[in-house]
Amino acid sequence: MRGLVIKNTGSWYLVRTDENKDVECKIRGSFRLKDIRSTNPITVGDRVSIVMNEDGTGVITEIEARKNYIIRRSSNLSKQSHIIASNLDLCFLIVTVSKPVTTTVFIDRFLASAEAYRIPVNLLFNKIDICDEEEIEYMEALINLYEYIGYPCFKISARNSTGLDILNDKLKDRITLFSGHSGVGKSTLINAIVPNATLRTGDISNYHGKGMHTTTFSEMLELPQGGFIIDTPGIKGFGTVDMSPEEISHYFPEIFKFSHNCRFNNCMHTNEPGCAVREAVENHYISETRYKSYINILEDETNDKYRK
Ligand code: GDP
Ligand code: ZN
Repeated sequence: MRGLVIKNTGSWYLVRTDENKDVECKIRGSFRLKDIRSTNPITVGDRVSIVMNEDGTGVITEIEARKNYIIRRSSNLSKQSHIIASNLDLCFLIVTVSKPVTTTVFIDRFLASAEAYRIPVNLLFNKIDICDEEEIEYMEALINLYEYIGYPCFKISARNSTGLDILNDKLKDRITLFSGHSGVGKSTLINAIVPNATLRTGDISNYHGKGMHTTTFSEMLELPQGGFIIDTPGIKGFGTVDMSPEEISHYFPEIFKFSHNCRFNNCMHTNEPGCAVREAVENHYISETRYKSYINILEDETNDKYRK
């Protein structure tokens, strides 16, 4: 029998079979050796094969190749990582231009990581009910920028349930990751979308507390229309993709497009002569904030490389 892992308690997994039955499963011992660098061999979102025991529980015998997955590093020093979820179809990044302000560097880092993970991102601009004129103007400018690059944007108010219908359509039959730094209204939004989610608004800070770092618990929230939501604690674990300095520009689609015209094919788009990317920034074909974010990641990754 085949199915989808929808919950991982650390000691057992809940598998939703293709026949729509939920089976509590353990894994075969040999599985533990498969991916030594990860603390968990199986994660929510995995498609698995199971065999049934007589008592109604199951054993996971096989895992299908993942189309993508996201990880959390146990610590910066440790090479061990924890897989949070796999086979994501879509990611909603919730951002706000007011209370709190999400910076473009934060957005761009997230988008670059998502490109590296090959997860499509939609940007949800939340709290439009409290934006003043100036903030609305800034938000519209950001929406223009990101839609032009290829990231669909939506204006919503989780508090008033404004703009949520279209999101509900997008969520149907998909596995969607919800992300955003704390305070943007992620829990409020999930509660508005999944009536019985029983999420702790404002309680998310506990999530970052010491206890949660060690636990391997993860769960997908089931949607009434079909499909699942994965709720990650902030950006942690999503921003830590290892990128070599040379590949960072690959994760900025519009920068990558112009980079083909640079004089040197190993151009890093910093000080090289004949750089088509810098020229495009000067001519406003590439946004200055996007270029700044690119340089920001490049400097971080370059420093990292020398530290290693
Ligand atoms: P999280 O940390 O991203 O999960 O954010 P919460 O859902 O806990 O929300 C943080 C604060 O923002 C809470 O006080 C919410 O009531 C508030 N909030 C969430 N969504 C909205 C919204 O659409 N409009 C306004 N005005 N406030 C919101
Ligand atoms: Zn260049």
